[in-house]
Amino acid sequence: MDEITQNYKLDGELLNIHTYPDPILTQVADEVTDFDDNLKKLCKDMLYTMYHAPGIGLAAPQVGIGKRIFVIDVDYTREETSEGSGEYTLSNFNPQIFVNPVIKNKEGQISYQEGCLSLPGVYEDVKRFENISVDFQDTDGNSHSIDASELFSICIQHENDHLDGIVFIEKLSPLKRNFFKKKLIKAKKQKNHNL
Ligand SMILES: [Zn+2]
Repeated sequence: MDEITQNYKLDGELLNIHTYPDPILTQVADEVTDFDDNLKKLCKDMLYTMYHAPGIGLAAPQVGIGKRIFVIDVDYTREETSEGSGEYTLSNFNPQIFVNPVIKNKEGQISYQEGCLSLPGVYEDVKRFENISVDFQDTDGNSHSIDASELFSICIQHENDHLDGIVFIEKLSPLKRNFFKKKLIKAKKQKNHNL
């Protein structure tokens, strides 16, 4: 575990999560070329924002940054401190940072009901590859490759789509897609934040 993933809990800045139909969500993100302190701070703030949203994944375009970066934690536990208090404790962290990810070796098929912090209130079954491998870089620019399956694989594919300007309603039938688009635009006008 590198310095960022050890220290992300201690401090961080809560970033604004952009919701559909914000145009940043439909743009193809740029490759990261500068592995500097700004990149490290962004990743730390993205993890902080993801844990507080809460979500299990967050891509840079969702916080208004058109760069090929996402963060994921499919393992952490979120427990309410006492019933109805509205306060939560988080534990069992397993933060993962992906810079310039490339998905390869796609195999099998899995269907899962997905949600997205940028599409409040929408939960729909989406088909994904069950097993993948991913080449990516860390915040120092070092290259890595990992295999992923089940929820981790689904989450990587969902976040990677964000880097290509794709939100998951694009994967639904045209009828459902149009239904949700109208619903989201209406919800946006009402300033609804339920995720
Ligand atoms: Zn999403």
